[in-house]
Amino acid sequence: MLKLANGSEIPALGLGVWQVPDGPVCERAVTAALESGYRLIDTAQAYGNEASVGRALRSSGVPRGEIFLTTKFHPGRRDPLAEMEKSLERLDTAYVDLYLVHWPQGGATVAWPGMEAAHAAGLAKGIGVSNFSAAELAEVSAVAEVPPMVNQFQYSPFVDRRGLVEACLAAGVVPQGYSPLGTGEHLDDPVVAKIAAATGRTAAQVLIRWSLQRGVSVIPKSSRPARIEENFGALDFSLDEESMAALDALDTTQHTAEAKAADEKWWS
Ligand code: NDP
Repeated sequence: MLKLANGSEIPALGLGVWQVPDGPVCERAVTAALESGYRLIDTAQAYGNEASVGRALRSSGVPRGEIFLTTKFHPGRRDPLAEMEKSLERLDTAYVDLYLVHWPQGGATVAWPGMEAAHAAGLAKGIGVSNFSAAELAEVSAVAEVPPMVNQFQYSPFVDRRGLVEACLAAGVVPQGYSPLGTGEHLDDPVVAKIAAATGRTAAQVLIRWSLQRGVSVIPKSSRPARIEENFGALDFSLDEESMAALDALDTTQHTAEAKAADEKWWS
């Protein structure tokens, strides 16, 4: 668990559901996650599967208060408060635990007053940002009445945005990493495979564990129950210093404080 600026706690490990098809596949994935012990689910308005997430949460029987639910404002739309109300209808719940600006389209601060309105209305207990650089995070913090509580960005040994993690921690913002497996592309790396073999763990568990040991909340995605359970096993072991150092050496970002390279910003 990591502590948010609003005093609540966010689980260190959750299930992400980007590219999990709406309907039975998504419902099954979220159900499997809750059965395996996950209590953090990460969806977004852009993913088109909030209704399935909501159905799985309801039918699980897990009390709502034990679940940490994140959704994200689609910055191509105008009004974060109005979009929050629509999300809550789809999710069939009275509030989300965290509402993130999905990316800084149109500038870092444009969505923030609407995010604060969703928070003031009690619809989003926590608010934050995603894909914001250290400079963009500082811009929001400078104008915010309620500062961002989380910044979610791409993070893995290969994309070790350590400058951004440090900027988040210095500002009291919880860093959360997405694509810990490189959307599946890092699983076959020989360094990762060697550490997995030496520790008796899988490549996915090694990659997820690395993020956890860096103090970063992490949200791997799978639509398959067996892998969802496997990924949760990252909580049960530790990597030694030598393995952590070998994984650190895979970084391709020079430990940037940017959230994306200039040519990766799909919104600009
Ligand atoms: P991940 O890095 O989590 O990798 C997911 C891929 O790895 C899928 O193809 C999955 O396949 C496969 N996989 C998962 N577990 C295993 C395993 N144990 N063994 C083998 N293969 C495995 O990808 P994402 O890019 O989806 O990132 C995770 C989450 O982060 C997203 O779902 C989303 O919630 C969030 N995210 C946020 C973004 C943002 O802009 N804020 C952007 C991107 C992601 P399969 O499903 O078939 O098992």
